[in-house]
Amino acid sequence: TAGYCAATGIYSSHHPPLATVTASSFPDYIFPRLLELPPDRPAFVDASTGATLSFADLRALSLKAATALSALGLRRGHVALLLAPNSLHFPILSLGVLALGAVLSTTNPLLTANELAGLAQDSEPFLALTTAELAPKLVSLTSTRVVLIDQFLAGIEDHEAWACHNSPVCQDDPALHFYSSGTTGKSKCVVSTHGNAIATGEILQSIWRRGGGGDYGNGNVDVYGCVLPMFHLFGFSMFVLGTPAMGATTVLVPGRFSVDRLMVAMEEHKVTRLLAVPPIVVQMEKVRAGELLLTSTRRRLCLTDVVSSGAPLQREQMARFHSCFPGVKITQCYGLTEATVIVTMDDLSLLHNDDDGTVEVEFSNEPSPTVGRLVPSTEARIVDVDSGESLPPNRVGELWLRGPSVMQGYLRCEEATAAALVVADGGGRWLRTGDLCFVDFRGFVHVVDRIKELIKYKAYQVAPAELEDVLASHPDIQDVAVAPYPDEEAGEIPVACVVRKPGSSKLKAQDIISFVQSKVAPYKKVRKVVFVDCIDRSPSGKILRAQLKSFVRTCEIHG
Ligand code: AMP
Repeated sequence: TAGYCAATGIYSSHHPPLATVTASSFPDYIFPRLLELPPDRPAFVDASTGATLSFADLRALSLKAATALSALGLRRGHVALLLAPNSLHFPILSLGVLALGAVLSTTNPLLTANELAGLAQDSEPFLALTTAELAPKLVSLTSTRVVLIDQFLAGIEDHEAWACHNSPVCQDDPALHFYSSGTTGKSKCVVSTHGNAIATGEILQSIWRRGGGGDYGNGNVDVYGCVLPMFHLFGFSMFVLGTPAMGATTVLVPGRFSVDRLMVAMEEHKVTRLLAVPPIVVQMEKVRAGELLLTSTRRRLCLTDVVSSGAPLQREQMARFHSCFPGVKITQCYGLTEATVIVTMDDLSLLHNDDDGTVEVEFSNEPSPTVGRLVPSTEARIVDVDSGESLPPNRVGELWLRGPSVMQGYLRCEEATAAALVVADGGGRWLRTGDLCFVDFRGFVHVVDRIKELIKYKAYQVAPAELEDVLASHPDIQDVAVAPYPDEEAGEIPVACVVRKPGSSKLKAQDIISFVQSKVAPYKKVRKVVFVDCIDRSPSGKILRAQLKSFVRTCEIHG
């Protein structure tokens, strides 16, 4: 039942394929649906203020925002950068930009002004929507008009709703610019289309809508807890594209992450499903373990599912979570920015329909916990890294993906696009994920290791090539390479292997750490340093990354 065809070497999804959607753009697809939903069901709730936004208001405000953005000169094909933390404004502004046929670009507000200027060179935003606190980071973007979100939204009530047909858009038009370093090199701008965004909505609602069917807008509806940032494609696809398409409520818990605030919000707003990354799962388990000792403080949760993604969650971590939250099913899903949305996941609604409240967790004696099965209309190949041959179930190789959510390519990076998207003999393009995986006999995918350069610090992307560039600019450093090092709390941390220049023996680990810290966003900083005599490189000068990764694991680390 792995869905494997030996003749083609292709694994296919066990789900029925997605129906064809004729809507020409994501707004064209989503807006009519929002009107069908019950007026008393909130689309978004901000747990920090109690403010709510109905589905009808989400639509109406997005369309007014579109008209106001058009009055600022934003047009189809222009790029609008949204630099902001999670709030009710995020989905309104995102859908407003898309309604105009403009491209929404977003990134981590923790980036430094220099890092933001670098990204803006790529996607050349026509305007930037941001908060008063973040606006100073954008001063160097001289050709981008900076618009403060609060002031902008205060004025949109006077505008008429935008009529989407004024800006004919098609499914192949670009909709989103998010950033990812892909399998190698520095951060690149991933271009996803309206068709990719529609596929995201369809995939999520076909799999995760509670009850597995029924009329849209009726029945038992989930309440999703949102602590993932919407500036990352995992959070964006779930909570700007996905939950509105599912007709489910999203409860935002904005601000710096705190398990306590999350638990309070989940209790108060009866959250049933939480999307998380591994560090959140681990913290929740620790706090709950404390609560269980004191019955008086134990929160009464309606939580049924926690789904972790973004980085591996170890089997032991899943087991500990399960023992602290016995009624909650914990599963993993897998995705990457280049595929717009998660591409393997468990069919939560079916599992719940089948069971009687008892929860089974897959711990068995498999080598790694599963990240679920392929989502509808998505195919996979497991490719032997040396021979390029397609591999059958239970054999480990690089995961390649083909499906309606796979990106169009990297903006203005033909070489990187050609390397990431392989044109298949029979047509279509396969995305090389850079992840080592296998598919078991039941069709469940397991991630074994990452062969791409990427480091994942608390599930955030850190590109070694970027840190190497910064480090190479240090006057006392002769050569340098950056690699991931395993860390209990963060998953991985960046470690710099440094060759000092002759006569620079006074250069200490802490000097190097501080040097990088002053130049990059806090989550990217080098956390440990190893001094070495030389960096192993291939004859063409490329760092031998796999060797480096194994080497640092054996090192005594300073920092
Ligand atoms: P991003 O583009 O930032 O979403 O990062 C995608 C990468 O995160 C994938 O290519 C994997 O290397 C890793 N990843 C995502 N989900 C998982 C998971 N459940 N288990 C292991 N690695 C994961």
